[in-house]
This record gives sequence, C-alpha cells and structure tokens, in this order.
Amino acid sequence: MSRFWSPFVRDLVPYVPGEQPKDKVFIKLNTNENPYGPSPHALEVIRDAAGDDLRRYPDPMATDLRAAISEGLGLTEDHVFIGNGSDEVLAHAFNGFFRDKGPVLFPDVTYSFYPTYCRLFELASHHVPLDEDFRLDPEDYRGSCGGIVIANPNAPTGIAIGLDEIAHVLSRNPDRVVLVDEAYVDFGSESAVSLVPEHDNLLVVQTFSKSRSLAGMRVGFAVGQPHLIEGLLRVKDSFNSYPLDQLALAGAKAAWHDRNWFEETRKLVMTDRDATADALSGQGFRVLPSKTNFLFASHPDISGAALLEALRNEGILVRHFRGTRTGNWLRISVGTKEECGRLVEATGSILSRATA
Ligand code: PMP
Repeated sequence: MSRFWSPFVRDLVPYVPGEQPKDKVFIKLNTNENPYGPSPHALEVIRDAAGDDLRRYPDPMATDLRAAISEGLGLTEDHVFIGNGSDEVLAHAFNGFFRDKGPVLFPDVTYSFYPTYCRLFELASHHVPLDEDFRLDPEDYRGSCGGIVIANPNAPTGIAIGLDEIAHVLSRNPDRVVLVDEAYVDFGSESAVSLVPEHDNLLVVQTFSKSRSLAGMRVGFAVGQPHLIEGLLRVKDSFNSYPLDQLALAGAKAAWHDRNWFEETRKLVMTDRDATADALSGQGFRVLPSKTNFLFASHPDISGAALLEALRNEGILVRHFRGTRTGNWLRISVGTKEECGRLVEATGSILSRATA
C-alpha cells in the first residue's frame, strides 16, 4: 500500500497467473500451454522478421493479420479485432461494452479474470451458479444486466455448451453484448463465429496461445459485427495503438496459415486428453467431460490441495483453485503423451500411499 496510489488501486485483487518456475525442471501441467510448440514455419517467419525493420513501429491496424483471419473465417476485415493476447481483448470489451449498464453476468465457476476486470473497471457483476455438475443453463442468462460473458468451453471445468444454447442466450438478450470466450474452442467444440452475421450483439474472442501454441507471443482476437469492432478499436486507440509487435504480427499470420501443424497438434492433444481422462477415471477420479486442453478432476480419497502438493513433490505442476466449489478439484493441462503417462503414474502411486 502506498499513499501515492489512486484510491481504487487499494481495492484491486489482481488475477494470479499459474506459476512459471525458474528453479527446477517440472512437468508443467498448470497453465494450459500447448506441449507441441508453435508451427515450425511460423518460427522461421519470426526469425526472418527480426531485422532492420524493427526500428519502425508495427502496423497499428494489424492489417495483414486481420485479413488472414477474416478470410479464413469467411468474413471481411472489419469483423476482426486483434489484441495483445485475448486477455487484452477481453479487457477492452469489458471496458468498451459493459460500463454504466448494470451487472455483468457470468458463471460462478469460470475464468477468474472476469471478476478481476469488473473490479478494474468498477463494474458490478452477478455470478450465476452452474448446476451441481458444473453445467450451464442458458435460461439463467436473462433479465436486466449490463452484459453476459460465457467461456465456451468453460474454464476451469472444460465443459462446452452447444451453439443452439449460445443462440438461445443471444436471442433472449438482443440489447446487450454477449461475449463468448473461445480460448479453447479448437479442442473439440463448435465456434459461435458462424452466428456473428445474424447477431449484432455477439462478440467471439479467441487466442493464439492454446491451439496455436503461441502463449509467449501474446496474440488474441475478437470477431463481431463491424460496429462492435469499431468500439474495440476506439478503446484500443485510446490506450495503446501498437499492442502487437512486428514479430507477433508476422508469426501469428504464418501460424494461422499453417493448417497442417494446427490440425496435427490439436488432434494429438485431444487424443491424449481422452486417454488421460479414462486412465484417471480408472483410478477413481471424477473427471468432467472436457473439450479443452485440460482436465478438471477430483478424487474422493484425497483433497485437491493435498494432491497438488504430492504431485509437486513428484515434479509435476498442476493448478488448484481455492473456493467452496473448486477447492477439491485440480485442473490438469494435457501435456505430451509421455507427460500424461508420468502424471497417471504419479497419481496412481500417490493414491496407493494415501489409501494404504
Ligand atoms: N480466456 C480463458 C478462458 C483462458 O483460460 C485464458 C488463458 N489464461 C485466456 C482467455 C487468455 O489467454 P491469452 O491472454 O493467452 O490469449
């Protein structure tokens, strides 16, 4: 605390990212990173972009990258907004669409950055309970509110809802923005981008951090009708005109075009995810049905906090979220086949010690 802080800074509760250990080599299954690395072609393009041109500012409108993404999605460029990771895109959307409009609705168990943005921008929020199986009922999202945020698939549960359910929320709320956060959509669920032409209140947010393995580069984007994109651009250009550097712009475009690498690696992740879910279920875990690159699991014989510690002692990092509903669960990112095997071995031996 400092007397120089603006008063609201005292009340901020910042988001806490997963640990990035420096001291020891862990099997890192705690931040939903992709185990396979970025497209080799994208890496080559990034290396080539590291030249004299870096003395110039990057393109503030990210024209080429917007063109590539919009073309891939069958839309025009004015439907796409680019930001420094989807976290920044989300921040601009909360700031640009939800202020002075009533509480923002999102599930009680979801991405913990949403309440953080509400505090930052001084927005009221209403946390709508998921059912006891962590399922979302679209009927719960109506009535007066300032906006709606749904992560689909949800995090940290991994559960996806169908496009018909998203469409239902959109039609019930024609006068407010419905933001669908699709950070994990490429691991087996359906994207709401196809609904953009019919719904002027839909903003879909995606990232290059997960399925394109570029978390370290910070590239995210939003897709919506041009009036929403223009709103985001106004906020962005009042904050930072150059959110993406030249290497990120070039690398993301190359990664977007490398369909083969994208398809190959996401399939590997999905296959290992399902095999790991089966193996953990076989050990007595309750594992929620995941359409992401992580699993949300709990075990009746050991608490989430105890299992987190025991796995850490075995050199494996996973993520634990305190709280009444999530405290007994762990979120486990899908690693390589070998890393998943090491995880299952470790949980097996921890459980046999715990129950001996
Ligand atoms: N949305 C969700 C649901 C996430 O889990 C994450 C990753 N922490 C993000 C958005 C942000 O990802 P990034 O800023 O790396 O694009």
